Amino acid sequence: MSGCKVMALLQISEPGQANAPHQHKLSIGIDLGTTNSLVASVQSGQSKVLTDENNKAILPSVVHCGKDNKLTVGCDACPYAKTDPTNTIISVKRFMGLNYQEVRGFKNCPYNLVENGNNVQFHTAMGNLSAVEISSTILTSLKERAEKSLGGDLMGAVITVPAYFDDAQRQATKDAATLAGLNTLRLLNEPTAAAVAYGLESGEEGVHAVYDLGGGTFDISILSFQKGVFKVLSTGGDSSLGGDDFDQLIIDDCIKMLKLGDLTPTQIQKIKQFTRTAKETLTDNEFAEFNCIEAAYRISKSKFESLSEALIKRTLLLTKRALRDAQITIDDVKDIIMVGGSTRMPLVRIMVSDLFNKPVLCSINPDEVVAKGAAIQANLLVGNKSQDDMLLLDVLPLSLGLETMGGLVEKVVHRNTTIPIVRAQEFTTFKDGQTAMSIHVLQGERELVKDCRSLGKFELRGIPPMVAGNARIRVEFQVDADGLLSVSATEQTSGVKADVSIKPSYGLSDSEMEKMLKDSILFAQDDIKARQLHEMQVEADRTMEAIDSALAKDKDMLDEAMLDDIMHARSQLEAVVKDKDEKIIKDKIDNLEVVSAKFVEIRMNSTISKAMKGRNVEEFQK
Ligand code: ADP
Ligand code: MG
Repeated sequence: MSGCKVMALLQISEPGQANAPHQHKLSIGIDLGTTNSLVASVQSGQSKVLTDENNKAILPSVVHCGKDNKLTVGCDACPYAKTDPTNTIISVKRFMGLNYQEVRGFKNCPYNLVENGNNVQFHTAMGNLSAVEISSTILTSLKERAEKSLGGDLMGAVITVPAYFDDAQRQATKDAATLAGLNTLRLLNEPTAAAVAYGLESGEEGVHAVYDLGGGTFDISILSFQKGVFKVLSTGGDSSLGGDDFDQLIIDDCIKMLKLGDLTPTQIQKIKQFTRTAKETLTDNEFAEFNCIEAAYRISKSKFESLSEALIKRTLLLTKRALRDAQITIDDVKDIIMVGGSTRMPLVRIMVSDLFNKPVLCSINPDEVVAKGAAIQANLLVGNKSQDDMLLLDVLPLSLGLETMGGLVEKVVHRNTTIPIVRAQEFTTFKDGQTAMSIHVLQGERELVKDCRSLGKFELRGIPPMVAGNARIRVEFQVDADGLLSVSATEQTSGVKADVSIKPSYGLSDSEMEKMLKDSILFAQDDIKARQLHEMQVEADRTMEAIDSALAKDKDMLDEAMLDDIMHARSQLEAVVKDKDEKIIKDKIDNLEVVSAKFVEIRMNSTISKAMKGRNVEEFQK
């Protein structure tokens, strides 16, 4: 999908001046974290994190929106969390893709949140800003760092998201990237990125566990690797368990040991900073100490570890649960990858490897591993490696669906669903006695067939004749690990079957795909209107069909005047059904229903009397 676009941009150099490194297309991988964000890039075949002018790789995901439009991102924004908390957004990732209702319940949230339609905004000194806008400032900062450090324009970025992120959260992340002027090559699941960084995609097939303990969150993902593709078997974790909770253990101990009474918010903030440093110190040292409000506090590694045990045990419990959800036993796990700054703590490594009965993978810096994996993937996607190199197509780029009555598309598998996947949906017949059904498979996000891309059509024949709506046609979509789609349709009562195989993304370039996605947002309003009109037209056809079928059977139950009324109402409806006015069509449908109410009643009574003669009611009800 990326190859064709890249070709045109290759520089043509004079003979003898061709210089391989100049042809290297610049791409980056971004770990857009809750606490910290990083950017990495593949240079001379090595994935490396890029540092700022102070030689720091980690950019705290903190954004200060100050007066006079003064925007500060990263380390420089951190002190404002104390002095100006309402204007300092410290974990914007938690808000991505959520609406006002969903964020209202957030605890200890110091921000002024405002409702904006279905969306939520932060009321700041720089005005009302959405999570997407705030997140984009972090991405902009990383993008600028990368451009400076790599010395050129970027072709694109792979951005990582938690495996459990839903469509809205993924879309919000992509929107933030677009706003930052980044070309998103792909969103990649964080655990998949970590697995790529360890090169697991060139190893044997198997199941891996990715244990990610960050600043404020714990995520456990169980991945299977098969035929070159990572699939997320299950995810679990706790969105309010992370490094901060380990800091809190030291804070509590400090308050207890020094018998500190009521503390001012500034004092608490100070202690928080000290304890964070103390905790990190204990990773490599036996003791840590600091001066806390005129008294010295000292804590030993063994004391800290005994305090920590309960928290780590909790992560192990969640790990076991995720394994259970994936129906995997501990012995089935080949590798355990440690991700997130908090997995530096030695006791975490020990307890996790004890659980799995084998050493954990922690040779790559746990804060950097996700960004590095993303960079490797980005490098592949811009085409710096040969075509033979495997592409990890672990999510579906566009939705897949079927044409339904009236030129509408019913989505069966949604965009960004991880593959391989099997999804089925039931459809039914529209006409009495219908024996064949045309199945039209489409790709895209829009509502109407004409705006999506047609992937193929096939026919299901030999459906036994039934009353409209009685056939149960199960259409199954199966996307395999190579991104190949096969569709099969089975009529459930008779078992009649038809199927077809299609390659969904064949021939779609990235820019076409992007256009299809953009259009789906751009035309959302029009699409809803068009959909309503189409649905009304389908409803009109259905009503006429029902009347025709009833008349064909029981016309003799009616006197001439009644029949005339019905036929008149029917032709009035038929005359407007192609109109562009949904309301006129609805009026005529209602009219036909009113006029034929008596007929329906007569038929019903006759059905009941026939049933009383010992026959089956169901045969007549429709
Ligand atoms: P996130 O994924 O949530 O953005 P990170 O993976 O960057 O966060 O992890 C940040 C956490 O890692 C913080 O709580 C920090 O204190 C902790 N951390 C970083 N270095 C160490 C260390 N040497 N020892 C213990 N914890 C550490
Ligand atoms: Mg992280």
